[in-house]
Formats: sequence, C-alpha cells, structure tokens
Amino acid sequence: MLSDYRNTLYCSELQDVYSKKNDLEMRIRKSTPSTKVIYNRVKEGSSVYKEAFMGIYNYKCGYCGNSIKNISKTMFEVDHYICESSFKSKEVAGEMVNLILACYDCNRSKSNFFITNQYKATLNPDSEKIKDVFIRDDFYYIKISDNYKDDDFISSFYDKLKLSYQSRRLDYLLLNLHGLCERVEETQSNQLSSILRKLQQKRNLASLKLIAEDASFSEAQPT
Ligand SMILES: [Zn+2]
Repeated sequence: MLSDYRNTLYCSELQDVYSKKNDLEMRIRKSTPSTKVIYNRVKEGSSVYKEAFMGIYNYKCGYCGNSIKNISKTMFEVDHYICESSFKSKEVAGEMVNLILACYDCNRSKSNFFITNQYKATLNPDSEKIKDVFIRDDFYYIKISDNYKDDDFISSFYDKLKLSYQSRRLDYLLLNLHGLCERVEETQSNQLSSILRKLQQKRNLASLKLIAEDASFSEAQPT
C-alpha cells in the first residue's frame, strides 16, 4: 500500500512544505512590504504567488490529493487550516503557516469546521502525520486507518470533508490513468486518453452541478 493516500504511484511526494512556504512568505514580504494579510496575496487566482503556492503542493489538494490534471486551476482554493473566525485578526489567521491548498470540494465541505488543539498537528496536510490517519484502499476509497477508526473527532473531520464520497474514487482513478497515459506507448496512450476524456467530462459535469448548488446555498463559504 502507498504511504500517502493522496498519491498514486505516479505522483511525487510532498517535500519541504514548511520551508518552501516560509520562503514564499519571505518573497511576498520582500516584494510587497505593505502586505498585511499573506492570505490575500496567495488566494488571487492570477497571482504568481498562487501559482508558487500550488507548486509547493505539487498542484494537488492537501486534503484529498486531487490534482490540476483532473480539475482546472480555478477549482483550487487557499484554505485557512484553522478557520479564520477563530482568530483575533485576519492577519494572524492569514499567515502562511495556516494556509493549505485545497480543492473546491474539500474547501467548501470543510467550511468552518474547527480543528481543536489536540488534532492540529495530526490533521495538518503539511505534516507526515496525516498519512497515518487516512489510507487509500484497494478499491480507491479513502478510509480512516485502524489506529484512528474509533476516534470521533477524526470521523467527524472525515465526514465533514466528504472523504468517503464516490467522487474521491473517480478522481483517484483519473489520476492513475493520467499517470499511466504519460508512461505507456503512443497507441495505448491514445486509447487511454479517449477513456480518460469521457470520464473527465462526467466528473466535471458533476462538479459544475455542485457549484451551481453551492451558489444557491450561500452559507457554504470558503474558509
Ligand atoms: Zn480535496
């Protein structure tokens, strides 16, 4: 079994996330010294900082591992790991250390879920620990590992982020197919690409439906 449930065989491991984020923060502060809230610089879709931030996460969601290979860049958002409302100021909430790259599905589902002190380190996508909390099983489901299966808080996080949803399996299958396509010979790759395109269309239609529903329920705000 792979050690990181967010990765397929073809994905690169996350590396030095903390120090890369720290470097990016320094870069932002140096080029725009007036910056008060780092989050505001990083969240803008067109900014070079958002691009750099996405690169730190290998262009994949920190929570579920979905990738820009499956969904467009615009479907990636910057999440406040500990929700913004629990901080005294936007400046502190928006510090780089509290920001995580999240896909639309994870960020909107997580919403204002509050991660308590006890679980801060365990569930942080930047740390190694989250890899012990969740696993990817042989049927591509994201599951809670045996070590945490009786933990109510972990279960509530898992449910809140909808990590059990079938769409997670489809995304993982698509990610596997992308990896495979890049490695097989051209004729096989062409066949695979056509399957991939069809699956991807279905997946993106489902996503659009979700966004349309979301727009009509304005309480589901990104945090
Ligand atoms: Zn996600």
